Amino acid sequence: MSATRVLVLNSGSSSVKYQLLDMRDATRLAVGLVERIGEQTSRLTHTCVGTGATREQNGPIADHDAALKALSEELARDGVGLDSPELAAIGHRVVHGGMFFTEPTVVDDAVLTEIERLIPVAPLHNPANLTGIRTAMALRPDLPQVAVFDTAFHTTMPEAAARYAIDVKIADRYRVRRYGFHGTSHAYVSRTAAKLLGRAPEDVNVIVLHLGNGASASAVRGGRCVDTSMGLTPLEGLVMGTRSGDVDPAVVFHLQRVGGMSMDEVDTLLNKRSGLFGLCGDNDMREIQRRIDEGDREAALAFDIYIHRLRKYIGAYYAVLGTVDAVVFTAGVGENAARVREAAVAGLEGLGLAVDAERNAVRADRARLISPDGARTAVAVVPTDEELEIATQTYALVGKDG
Ligand code: ADP
Repeated sequence: MSATRVLVLNSGSSSVKYQLLDMRDATRLAVGLVERIGEQTSRLTHTCVGTGATREQNGPIADHDAALKALSEELARDGVGLDSPELAAIGHRVVHGGMFFTEPTVVDDAVLTEIERLIPVAPLHNPANLTGIRTAMALRPDLPQVAVFDTAFHTTMPEAAARYAIDVKIADRYRVRRYGFHGTSHAYVSRTAAKLLGRAPEDVNVIVLHLGNGASASAVRGGRCVDTSMGLTPLEGLVMGTRSGDVDPAVVFHLQRVGGMSMDEVDTLLNKRSGLFGLCGDNDMREIQRRIDEGDREAALAFDIYIHRLRKYIGAYYAVLGTVDAVVFTAGVGENAARVREAAVAGLEGLGLAVDAERNAVRADRARLISPDGARTAVAVVPTDEELEIATQTYALVGKDG
């Protein structure tokens, strides 16, 4: 029997999320999470999807090596261990692939070196992603390990969208440009939206709004990304849970010169104490909506600022694309917050945009249209599935000769 399973690993600095999928029919066999790696209170939560049984292990898991061993033991208990001949490959999420990695790539020494070279532009993510890959390689040296990059989908952006208007030599020397993130989600969601419209991805223009704790928008023309809201780092663009999104860069100088803040303090301010959280003390849209319903003005203002920015990006990407077939909402907020979707397109009938109140109110975990019949531009909700996309890309690369 040929190998048809793919293990997807998303290694963070103190956590590893994993999913095992069978790519014959893209079914999930197991999902799990190892968290608080390196602490005394580490936890592994494992679910065997077939039986629905969930197991939990509590107690110290020292490092990523121990985490991978622990999760592979759990998989083995379900009869789908890492030593199974049915495992075709391991697909790894890698946050930053720079301009070098435009496609999923089988990992070898040269690839590891290049991911390492990108650490200065992704200091929080690439080291953890690398550790995950190296550990998995040590466990199964014979198995293809595939890196799937968050930035890859955005490498098709034209220079006009990707470059900042700063001194070209300095930009090139330090690799300062707009890379974009959440690419795996934007790729999956834009393709799924085309399918929902009954058309080929090459034939449609789509604006994708990935609204989770981190949030980004992208303009996708004929299946290729032509602009996205995140930049050198995931700080640029939309208002997020704790990140500011766009600010005048002079805010940074001002806070240092006039506010006496250090560079690290400003970094923390903009990444961890801004966005919805900075504006009203909550970063969960559910809580913000509850507060608005109780007449809380701070929460209402935070919501208005969030929506204002979102609408600006919808308008901007409309102009970038010229014609738009669909505006698509995804991720935690985009999939669940009907009020955000309604406010984002309210009054934009001139752009052909509207939501049907009844359709918008439906809660479902399938891709669906929420615009009225006959609308010039479709508005849709498409649940994202980054793990499935990583597994699909991984399997497409290595699975054929399984
Ligand atoms: P990330 O992957 O970036 O951590 P998610 O895509 O899981 O984030 O989105 C998480 C966010 O989704 C939460 O912080 C919350 O604001 C929002 N969210 C989840 N469920 C709902 C809901 N039912 N209504 C409104 N917002 C929701």
